[in-house]
Amino acid sequence: MKLRFLGGAGEVGRSAVLVNDQLLLDYGMKTANPPQFPVGLSRGAGLDPGAVVVSHGHLDHTGAVPALLSGDRRPPIHWTPPTRELALTLARDTLKLHGGTYDCPFTETELKRVTQVSEPHGYREPFEAAGHEITFFDAGHIPGSAHVLVDDGDTRLLYTGDYHTEGQQGDRSASGRANGREAPVSGQRLVAGTTARPDADVVLTESTYSDVDHESREEVEERFAESVKTTLWEGGTVVVPAFAIGRTQEMLMVCEAYDIPCYVDGMGKGVTEMLRRHPDFLRDGDALRRAKSHARFVTGRDGQRRRIAGENAAIVTTSGMLSGGPAMTYIPEIRSNPTNKITLTGYQVEGTPGRELLETGSAEIDGRVMPVAAQVESYDFSAHADRDGLYAFLDAYRDSRVLVNHGDRCGDFAAELRADGYDASAPELGETVSV
Ligand SMILES: [Zn+2]
Repeated sequence: MKLRFLGGAGEVGRSAVLVNDQLLLDYGMKTANPPQFPVGLSRGAGLDPGAVVVSHGHLDHTGAVPALLSGDRRPPIHWTPPTRELALTLARDTLKLHGGTYDCPFTETELKRVTQVSEPHGYREPFEAAGHEITFFDAGHIPGSAHVLVDDGDTRLLYTGDYHTEGQQGDRSASGRANGREAPVSGQRLVAGTTARPDADVVLTESTYSDVDHESREEVEERFAESVKTTLWEGGTVVVPAFAIGRTQEMLMVCEAYDIPCYVDGMGKGVTEMLRRHPDFLRDGDALRRAKSHARFVTGRDGQRRRIAGENAAIVTTSGMLSGGPAMTYIPEIRSNPTNKITLTGYQVEGTPGRELLETGSAEIDGRVMPVAAQVESYDFSAHADRDGLYAFLDAYRDSRVLVNHGDRCGDFAAELRADGYDASAPELGETVSV
């Protein structure tokens, strides 16, 4: 089997791997300024795979997919039902933000073709794509996320995609009982962590947090809930910037579990509605239903956002890194009062206003540099396995060849795995590897 690394090798963003020159795994875009795409992609030229398989509905895995449908190219696109809907939502958003510029690698026409070639599949239902047998397994990262098992008749490759494990803390019931309900054992509320370990000769693993040990989920939740409640008692407002996909729903579930009054705004609203229609891909469909009815959905009409910004409530809103969305209205409204609070809930990429705010206490919002007197806090609600999680997963693959991608220190992690007895390496961008 031949693997060509077109993106996501030694980096996070624009994931893309071409298998045997025929089968494309993921085709993402990296949100930078300007955005970056897999190597070899230029508009209207480049890649012509026999089929495309998408591991999950995040921009860095699916963002450039419609570009594969230019001219008369129509490769089938295989994914789970939630991944299909998330990919379409993201593509529409990219068109809205960047359509007609070099920052958008596809057109409206190409986007419309996506539904014509879409082929959804559930977990553990093998199918054929470009001469390969493919099977999806639940990766526990976001709803619909998949490990992709690829069998070309000679070699079985497990492409992990992004994944999350359940965590090692064991029983959380002692401390995690909130609102009279049992919280899930460690891990995320929205989706359960991966338990699938299908046999494979080669594993291509993500390594986003290969040098990080996450604080236990129950501790993060409790610190967050305590902090938000304190601000509300003191009469303040809390803005909770959150990614639309996964994180917004997770935060709504946390708010419901700890009885925190909350609003939800931005692209996360539509994603929440959509995921309600796919309960089979959630840990607990009822819990999301409760979270959705607990939260108040913001319409944004008649100055509603400005009114809410003066209320005693939490506001869960995009963008997670303060680079757009309704957060751009809320932050200027609440920033000058030190009783108010901004609680970041995910990783802040270098160069984003969220990162700037954390490091300097001020941020450029809508082109204006604004000092922020409100308190700023950061919580690690990650949807990725940490170092222990990666090792726990890879323990099932001690006899397989391991390739490391999707991280800032892939080479270092591969070396650490080798020192632990693994046959591990980290391919480079543009490299072709035979396995
Ligand atoms: Zn992801």
